[in-house]
Amino acid sequence: MALYVQKYGGTSVGSVERISVVADKLIGYKQQGHDIVVVVSAMSGETNRLLALANDISKQPSVRELDVLLSTGEQVTIALLCMALEQRGQSARSYTGGQVRIETDDAHGKARIKTIDDHRIRADLADGRIVVVAGFQGVDCDGNITTLGRGGSDTTGVALAAALKADECQIFTDVDGVYTTDPRVVSKARRLERITFEEMLELASLGSKVLQIRAVEFAGKYNVALRVKSSFEDGPGTLITYEDNDMEDALISGIAFSRDEAQLTIKGVPDQPGIAHAIIGPIAAANVEVDMIVQNVAGDGSTDFTFTVHRGDFSKALAILETTAKQVGAKDVSGDDTIVKVSVVGVGMRSHAGVAATMFDALGKEGINIRMISTSEIKISVVVMEKYMELAVRTLHDVFELDKAA
Ligand code: ADP
Ligand code: ASP
Ligand code: MG
Repeated sequence: MALYVQKYGGTSVGSVERISVVADKLIGYKQQGHDIVVVVSAMSGETNRLLALANDISKQPSVRELDVLLSTGEQVTIALLCMALEQRGQSARSYTGGQVRIETDDAHGKARIKTIDDHRIRADLADGRIVVVAGFQGVDCDGNITTLGRGGSDTTGVALAAALKADECQIFTDVDGVYTTDPRVVSKARRLERITFEEMLELASLGSKVLQIRAVEFAGKYNVALRVKSSFEDGPGTLITYEDNDMEDALISGIAFSRDEAQLTIKGVPDQPGIAHAIIGPIAAANVEVDMIVQNVAGDGSTDFTFTVHRGDFSKALAILETTAKQVGAKDVSGDDTIVKVSVVGVGMRSHAGVAATMFDALGKEGINIRMISTSEIKISVVVMEKYMELAVRTLHDVFELDKAA
């Protein structure tokens, strides 16, 4: 007897047939004697469809109304899944985030969960029900509907598992675990038995969409046993866990990539104190997130400054930088929104030198020019041209032999 929180993503509930399959699976778990709380996403494509409707109505829809709209996707799925369960003779009850009372802050579109009231869920479980909760949403302290950011149903699942002290939070999706890289890009990618929270957090924040970053953060903080599994086939999936001695002794655990990147350069600015702030300050003030930053010092007392932003913020950042260039007397401003970031991640890097050299050598041999580099203790990221992305990922997967278990 265990208590599981199981989250099913968009593809896993993408049609009436798929919802029926999930209902059958849930009844199987229930018959084994487990208590089940289910979190579901909107049916696949639905959140995008709703977003497009909003953008057809208004260029800048209000964030409050956008959340009212987007949260409806998940409400459809909870009701359909409960109907499917009841149709099979299994009592079940659905709740929106607000009905559970998943309380968040008021940051519409990227709200953070503050508290969860678990008493209705516990009462339903005690009555033998399967409880189905809408992912991706909550309410703020005034009762306004909020959403948690794209992929946010993962975070709802983990937060519920933490609140209910569940035995495991199982994220059911369209792949059977976390792979060494996206299996849609590298067919030789290998499923990992285990991965550390730290590595998963890096992979997620560097672009692997298999888990939302906040879900991993939350699970690490509250020590939630987190497993990614397939909703299409049985199998052990991947356990996200703390580092232990049984872990694969791999140098590199995975490769992440992100197409969501753009690069901006301002050339010939005076090399003097305060210049970095003069350039980045106005960008930050416009709420544009800056990722990598590189400054090259030229011999003549001037310097060039290059940084990356989300691709969606490219034109906004470029306009700001052009204004800054006039103010600080820069020579030139340029930008490129056809770049990507490719990153290798692994806790093994801490104790091994030479990963960067191997990486740069392999990319160079393929004729892939590296435009920017950034490193931390357990990751190395490079910026390359978009057309080289798949080649870069495949090359690195090969050179670090990620298809073979360590
Ligand atoms: P869901 O709708 O179930 O939340 P997502 O599309 O958000 O599913 O996440 C699953 C997808 O993540 C997979 O189909 C896969 O293409 C992608 N993905 C990216 N990186 C990885 C990785 N390292 N391991 C597994 N899947 C990955
Ligand atoms: N439906 C939301 C999205 O598409 C949340 C989720 O699926 O996790 O981003
Ligand atoms: Mg997802």
